Formats: sequence, C-alpha cells, structure tokens
Amino acid sequence: MNKLVLFDIDKTLIDRSMCHQVAFSYAFKEIYGVTVDISIINYAGMTDPQIAVEVLERVGLDENLIKSKLDKCMDAVVDYFKKNAEREDIPALDGAKELLDALENKVIIGLITGNLEPIALEKMRKAGLRRYFKVGGFGSDNINRTELVKTAIKRAKDSHGFDGSEVFVFGDTPRDIKAGFEAGAKSIGVATGRYSKEELKNSGADFVFDNLKDKEKIVEIILENS
Ligand SMILES: [Mg+2]
Repeated sequence: MNKLVLFDIDKTLIDRSMCHQVAFSYAFKEIYGVTVDISIINYAGMTDPQIAVEVLERVGLDENLIKSKLDKCMDAVVDYFKKNAEREDIPALDGAKELLDALENKVIIGLITGNLEPIALEKMRKAGLRRYFKVGGFGSDNINRTELVKTAIKRAKDSHGFDGSEVFVFGDTPRDIKAGFEAGAKSIGVATGRYSKEELKNSGADFVFDNLKDKEKIVEIILENS
C-alpha cells in the first residue's frame, strides 16, 4: 500500500485516562519515594518516559538517579494501569470509529503515541478501536516522539508492504505536528485537546479540523492521488 496513516491516542482518538495519570503518581512514590502529580507540567504530546523525566527533574531529583530507575518506573506505571483500568470507561471520541471504518482496507492504519505500548493497546481495546491498528510507534520504543514516527514507518515497511510513499500523522498538539514534520510525514491537527486549530496551524500542521467528525473531507485529503 502507498499510504500510512498514524493516529495519536490521547485527545485525538479518546479523551484522557485518569487512571493513566494516577499511575505515574503511584510509580513515582513506589520507585523514587516522591509524591508528585504529572499535572505540574504541560505533558500534552510528550512520551511517557519524557513526562517522568521532566516531572522528576522539576521536583529536584538528580538526572542520573532518574535514568537509573526509569525502566522500573515505567514498569510500575504499566502495572498500576493494568490493575486499575478496568474500573475506568474509555469511550472513543465522536467520529473516530467512523473515520477508521472509512480508511480501513484503503490505507495502513497505525498508532503514534507517547503511551507505553501495553497502555496504548489497552486504551484502544476499551474504546473498541483495537482492531484497526496494524503498526505503531509507542513511548516504550523511545523517549523522543520523532523517533516513534520513524519506528512506526519502518514497521509498516518491514511487515505490511508499505512502499514509503505518503505518511499522515494525526495529533492534537504542536509536539505531534513537529514529530510528524521531522519524520517526513504530513500532519493533520485536530482541536480536540488543549490547542486551537489556529495554534495547530501555526505549529506547522498541513491540515486542521475541529475534530474527526468531518469524515468526507479528511478521507478526501488522505486518499487524494491514490
Ligand atoms: Mg494527544
């Protein structure tokens, strides 16, 4: 196939998961002995390991100490999420399922998210969207979001016959747009998070939408020149 379409998760396909946020607080206490919530920073569009490093640096922990226990900390985030996510409802945002239905079998669909892979896949399962995604780049692959896009592209080429022609990245933050640009993808900004269409456009988005409900227009952009 000649098109790869990658979707961010939080605030693009679903609303936020409180359980995921609380999982960080649990892991920080368990692994580093500090009490802090990730809401002290603007983490929108950051990868999970990046969020942990920035929050822990902010409360004064030594960089080497943070890095030495980072893998353990990420494991603790996943453990907490797995044990507690069943109590949480994670519905898909309006239009997400319809758009994925319209793209299915016409393009390769994947995920591009800062979420650790087990958390990303569980969120998609709970939202009823898991079956659409053939590949992904996840926070567990790399701390740097641009590298995640490159990883997802490579996986699509290696395992799903993607010819490398055209990649689209959906996201709700300037960090998603920047990562897409740096990896050579076209970006589609959706204003379902904390950023407006104008802010997403100004950060370099090739296209912007209020949400995913404008299915016809979005599909037309992606399938153009197929
Ligand atoms: Mg997001």
